[in-house]
Amino acid sequence: MTAYQRTIFLLFDGARWDVFQKLLDAGELPNIHARLAPDGRVRRAVASFPTVSGPAHLPFMTGCFPGTLGAPGVYWFDRREQHLHGSVRHSVRSYLTPYKVSNLNKDLEPFTPTLAAVWPDVKYVFGWYTRGSPDSALLTRWTKIPSFVRGFLTRDWLRCDADAEAAQNRAIDSGASFVFSVFPSPDELGHRFGPTAEPVLTAYRRMDGVVGRLFDRLARRGEADRTLVVLSADHGQGDTHTHFALDRAVGDAFGKTLAYRRWPSPLRGFEAVVLPSGNGMANVYFRGDGWDRGRPDTERFRPFAIGLLAGEAVDHVAWRTTDGWLRVTGRGGAARMRETPGGLIYVVEGIDPFGYPKLPAAMDVETALRATEGTAYPDAPFGLLTWARSPRSGDLLVTSRPGFDLRDWFEYQEPRGTHGGLHAEHAHVPVLCNAPMKEGPMRTVDLYPTLVELAGRTLPPGVEGVSRAR
Ligand SMILES: [Zn+2]
Repeated sequence: MTAYQRTIFLLFDGARWDVFQKLLDAGELPNIHARLAPDGRVRRAVASFPTVSGPAHLPFMTGCFPGTLGAPGVYWFDRREQHLHGSVRHSVRSYLTPYKVSNLNKDLEPFTPTLAAVWPDVKYVFGWYTRGSPDSALLTRWTKIPSFVRGFLTRDWLRCDADAEAAQNRAIDSGASFVFSVFPSPDELGHRFGPTAEPVLTAYRRMDGVVGRLFDRLARRGEADRTLVVLSADHGQGDTHTHFALDRAVGDAFGKTLAYRRWPSPLRGFEAVVLPSGNGMANVYFRGDGWDRGRPDTERFRPFAIGLLAGEAVDHVAWRTTDGWLRVTGRGGAARMRETPGGLIYVVEGIDPFGYPKLPAAMDVETALRATEGTAYPDAPFGLLTWARSPRSGDLLVTSRPGFDLRDWFEYQEPRGTHGGLHAEHAHVPVLCNAPMKEGPMRTVDLYPTLVELAGRTLPPGVEGVSRAR
């Protein structure tokens, strides 16, 4: 196998696998068809959980799950920090605040893999996580905020994609061995119009043009055959018609509740914290006997959590039990699960909460993927277990049913698209690549080791995905 000298990674934020396949089938993506899917098939991967930008970008740059790295949501709360500092400035994080995105570099676990560990001259375009690289590696470090603010004000996210393409061209011309670019439009437009609305499909068609011009550029440089080009997405998105104010429900049951941008006054003495991500999942934290006492007894919130399932908005609730299980309850039934070396144990109590056919009680992680990849909840048991690894993950996890989300306040527009959860619409993402890969299901966490192998480079320690290179 000849190793690829360069790799260009296009992260098409929030793009759905099935939308790509449909547009490809309709002949609307001729460049992508010719260059990245010559057999006409859009390969799919399962996104890491939670399926939200920021955390779900990390597998591409580290080969690790966001829960392992310490990013269990695009917002999170850390009770250890709350105990130490007594201030939410230290204990609450939002990666949606532009100037706080760079915190990802220091928030995550030390000594975890980076792109720079394999490709030291990596260049980023709108990247969220750049650990190991000098500031100058982020080519959009001065232009990202103006570009995104213009996007928020004008809602013209296609111009942000055009800005990304221009910066990507500069990165290619710099000769960098790895270029990592984020194109934000499908997520932003999907939130505004719904994930399969016409303005969103326009973004996919524009991306086809980006891919065409990229290969023309590489051909002019004589590099088309030696450059690996990958297009993937961090998460999908589902249609949304109803907003459920989870923070208000928690506040009614537990008292003063902190929710991002809905700060109670004064910012002290709160009983609970509710932080939705992508609006389809939420980390919920309870003070219990004190933020310094560790996670509260689950009996404190179990009746409330089960009660949420009686309403129409909530799909699943999950929490850790004192004897070391992660227990997930859906509208139909419940299961408990725990990690084992290289695998997991999955015990259904009554009816399977995900509607799976009968699964083996003990599975390695590959079996768990194969058994669930094609269902309505791809890889949900292992995805949940990786989320639960982080001390910053909620005491209680809540996910919304398709059509619903978990808050009735908005960043800047009323969302008609939702992600963050476990449902296939959120979790199935496209993997389009000009190199052949092994058949069979894969996770987004597998792309990093796959690209390392295709580039003929050395895999750093700590990578959790497996190479699917052929
Ligand atoms: Zn989003």
